[in-house]
Amino acid sequence: MLEIYDILLKSLGPQGWWPHPTRFGKIVGAILAPAVKWSNVKKAVTNLEKAGLDNFESIKEAELNYLEELIRPSIYFRKKALALKAMAKRDDLLQQKGSNALRNELLALPNIGKETADSLLLYVFEYPTMIADSYTKRILYRYGFIQTEKISYDDLQMFLEASLPRDLGIYQELHALFVRLGELHCRKIPHCKECPLSSRCKKIDLKDPTEGV
Ligand code: SF4
Repeated sequence: MLEIYDILLKSLGPQGWWPHPTRFGKIVGAILAPAVKWSNVKKAVTNLEKAGLDNFESIKEAELNYLEELIRPSIYFRKKALALKAMAKRDDLLQQKGSNALRNELLALPNIGKETADSLLLYVFEYPTMIADSYTKRILYRYGFIQTEKISYDDLQMFLEASLPRDLGIYQELHALFVRLGELHCRKIPHCKECPLSSRCKKIDLKDPTEGV
């Protein structure tokens, strides 16, 4: 896994995650990020900021419908709006230190799933936990590190953490690199020719995905 990390870091460069300067923006970004490209998350966060919803007090006060409209670009915006409201009501959690106990508290909030809780822990609370998202799953399956794409979130997370030194910087960077690789090359239809992992990947596909389009 460290070899993959080195290859990706050399070829794609440091990703500088989490890509928002404020703590509020990082928290909102982590809640809106699952299942959507970062460019869409950015649009949604910008909509909130332009509307003056740039703190949890204003999120608490905002009409649910209005909040949903503002974050519509982030897909599953109804569930994510409820998650934002739930987090705004429990802003006391934001004063805590990262820990497994905090993870359980985050998971107890409505519409906060494992990926969101782990993103918050890793990038906001700076607690070393790996995020076992769908990009990571797809890349490691195609690369040949895991046998099935149906692996559970918990099993993939355990595999990742057992394969890496417990280092916050590596965890933060590697997840960001996986997301970048998934957006650039290892898409649903892979673009393998330019992929930095292509020389070792088991499922390299050199067909041009744009052929016949
Ligand atoms: S070579 Fe292709 S299948 Fe393998 S990781 Fe890269 S893009 Fe994905």
